[in-house]
Amino acid sequence: MKKIYFITGSQDLYGEATLAQAEKDSAEMAAYLGEKLSDTVDIVHTPIVQTADEAEDLCIKATADKECTGVILWMHTFSPAKMWIRALQALRKPMLHLHTQYNEKLPYDSIDMDFMNLNQSAHGDREFGFICTRLGIKREVVAGYYKNEKVIEKIRRFAKAAEAVAFGKGMRVAMFGNNMRDVAVTDGDRVESEIRYGWNVNYYGIGDLVKIADSVTDAETDEKIKEYTDKYDMDTDNIAAVREQARYEAALDKFIAKNRISAFTDTFQDLHGLSQLPGIAAQNIMAKGIGFGPEGDYKTAALSAVLQKMAEGREGATGFMEDYTYDLTDGEELELASHMLEVSPVFAGTKPRIQVHPLSIGGKSDPARLVFDGIEGEGIAVSMVDMGDRFRLICAGITLVKQPLPMPKLPVARLMWKIKPDLQTGSAAWIYAGGAHHAVVSTALTADDIRLFAKLTDTELVIIDEKTDLAAFEAQLDLLDLKYGSKR
Ligand code: MN
Repeated sequence: MKKIYFITGSQDLYGEATLAQAEKDSAEMAAYLGEKLSDTVDIVHTPIVQTADEAEDLCIKATADKECTGVILWMHTFSPAKMWIRALQALRKPMLHLHTQYNEKLPYDSIDMDFMNLNQSAHGDREFGFICTRLGIKREVVAGYYKNEKVIEKIRRFAKAAEAVAFGKGMRVAMFGNNMRDVAVTDGDRVESEIRYGWNVNYYGIGDLVKIADSVTDAETDEKIKEYTDKYDMDTDNIAAVREQARYEAALDKFIAKNRISAFTDTFQDLHGLSQLPGIAAQNIMAKGIGFGPEGDYKTAALSAVLQKMAEGREGATGFMEDYTYDLTDGEELELASHMLEVSPVFAGTKPRIQVHPLSIGGKSDPARLVFDGIEGEGIAVSMVDMGDRFRLICAGITLVKQPLPMPKLPVARLMWKIKPDLQTGSAAWIYAGGAHHAVVSTALTADDIRLFAKLTDTELVIIDEKTDLAAFEAQLDLLDLKYGSKR
């Protein structure tokens, strides 16, 4: 399990008794949080910090510890912030500044100056907060009593976001082929992606996969078919087409394991040696936590892997989706999201059926795919675009709804949703922001999770929700362009 260091600041002016008490309180608090968060992360208590050298040593240790995904910092007493400058300059891990104190209630009848000097985070955390702001450090500030469940849930959210950021560092993404010819939004700066997020994105020839697929045995294909029929309903006589996909997935499994891949892309324009575009093969793999982006969309592939990591342990589904078509009935506007094949079965509201239908583009054989109606519930759609001088995340609140009528002739899986606050506002805002037609949809994560991820990776973020006002939203976009000086 990953670790988060629990670091308590003080100074050496208070004398032995006060420091011993602060040390004892801090250990007890770390142990309490450790117990509460034991299913998510190890909280590692560290000795109370009294000097600039101790602060620096600890932050260097946290930075160098590969199992450490982040730090929690708080000031039990006053801790003059110049002693934190070198430490914070050395710290290269996500920070949660926990603005709390050991006691919940004020002891009105016994409070004296000794108590005030020991329990002065209201004072010390402001001093510490100033130097973080002065140094331009992006961090999460959580205020409140440390045993409060809402506070603990915010720490848990931070721990998962920090874990997802750490997961991204060195994450390997395979692109089978390049992005779809002439498409702009799926392209991007892969070097900048690695500098900012640690995503190592590399091209592979589809022939590398074909070679493995050619060596897949009948027994391996049989095993994959058994997995399919255990999970899904076979709704086709064209078993040969399904076996073809099973062979691709067995090959993808081997390729992913050998190359330690966490996300991949393919494209219907580069399938030399494959007779079908991967359909059920890609769908079944996505449901196992592997990120996927179609048409060479590496950003969506990587983001879906990272957000699936962040959503681990929560109820709900997370995966790639594409905006496709609308029902524009006045006042009842609905979006139909789908893809030409690759919709993750995590979104299935009905048992997926394995079907074989022609693909309208690409000129390949009819691919086997999973077809189902989508789940319902509250969710978000998150898109990452490359603005040329920075990445931008667009996060929209959506309500997934039951499709109003059957769609017996639609040969692909689908979701239906309403964007917030309404289609006229939400979709226009998405388009003003440059949001892509590819997104990661999640019913497990909320805008607060994306806000945290954006903050910890210093990524620009715009949010579309029930409060969105188009004029204010456009003004925000203008200000963001101004910040980067990038109006062309
Ligand atoms: Mn697409």
